[in-house]
Amino acid sequence: MPRPARPGQQRAMERAQRMLSRRRAETGRRASGAQRGNADGEGQAAPPVSRRPRFDGPVIDVRDVRKIYRIGDIAVHALRGVTLQIDRGEFVAIMGASGSGKSTLMNILGCLDTPTRGTYRINGMDVRGVDEDDLADLRNRYIGFVFQSFNLIPRTRAIANVELPLSYAGLHRSARQARAMAALDSVGLTDRAHHLPSELSGGQQQRVAVARALVTNPAMILADEPTGNLDTRSTSEVLSIFDRLSSQGRTIILITHEEEVAHHARRIIRIRDGHIISDERPEVRTALA
Ligand code: ADP
Ligand code: MG
Repeated sequence: MPRPARPGQQRAMERAQRMLSRRRAETGRRASGAQRGNADGEGQAAPPVSRRPRFDGPVIDVRDVRKIYRIGDIAVHALRGVTLQIDRGEFVAIMGASGSGKSTLMNILGCLDTPTRGTYRINGMDVRGVDEDDLADLRNRYIGFVFQSFNLIPRTRAIANVELPLSYAGLHRSARQARAMAALDSVGLTDRAHHLPSELSGGQQQRVAVARALVTNPAMILADEPTGNLDTRSTSEVLSIFDRLSSQGRTIILITHEEEVAHHARRIIRIRDGHIISDERPEVRTALA
C-alpha cells in the first residue's frame, strides 16, 4: 500500500511527467544536433563515473543543517543542526523512527529541497545560490533516486519509464532504448521491458525504479525506504542489487527503519528528532534480509 508521495518526491515526479510530455511532443522531430549535442552528432550522454572531474573531498558535506517547515503560524523543526560527511563509494544507512527527519535530510542531500540554515556541499559545490535549472542538471547527472512508492509513470511501459532520465541527455531514441534495456537487464527484468507498471509486482516495479535510477550511470544512489512496501523476497532482491552497486564503487545512501535492511550498509547513522544520535561502522556485516 504505497504512501502518498512527499513534497520533494512529488516535485521529482512532476518534473518527470513534464519531461515525458515534452519528449512526446518532440517525437518525430529529429534532434537538430544543436541541442547539447557533441561534434560527432551522437548527443551528450551523462559521462561515466570515472570520466567525471575528480574531487577528493567528501561527496557529501553537510554542516549544521537545519530545516524548519512553516505551516501558517506553526514552525516544524525537522532538522536541528545536522553535520555529516560522506566519502565517495560509501554505503550508508540512515535510520530513525517515523518523523525523525530522514526524508527531509534525503531531500536536502538530493538537492530536491534546500536547508533553512547551514551549508550543504555536494562534490565540493555549495548548493546555495545554484539556480533551479543547474540543480536539476546536477541531480540528473549525479544522483539516482529510489522512493518507497516506486513513482513510476502509470500507463507507461517499463522501458519508457527507465528512459525518462535520459531525456535531458539529447541521445537518439535508439541509444536511449539500448541504455534502458541494459539497465533493465542489470536488474533482471529484460523480459518485462514492455509491461506496464500495473502488470508488474511491487518488487518488479521497484526494480524498474532502480533501473531508472541507474540509467544515467550516477555516482550516487539515494534511496528513501526503498523496501518499505516490499515483501521479504523482493526486499532481498532489491538489496542484493544495492550490494552489487556498492561493490562497483557507487555511493549509496539508504534510508530505512529496518535493522536487517540497514545492516547491508557499512555505516549506520541514526537520527532522532532532527539530530544525529549515532554514527557507526559495524565491524561484521550480517546480511539478514
Ligand atoms: P521521516 O522521513 O523520518 O519520517 P520527515 O523528514 O518526513 O521524517 O519529517 C520530519 C518532520 O517534519 C515531521 O514532523 C514531519 O511531519 C515534518 N514535515 C516533513 N515534511 C514537511 C512539510 N513539507 N511540511 C511540514 N512539515 C513537514
Ligand atoms: Mg520518510
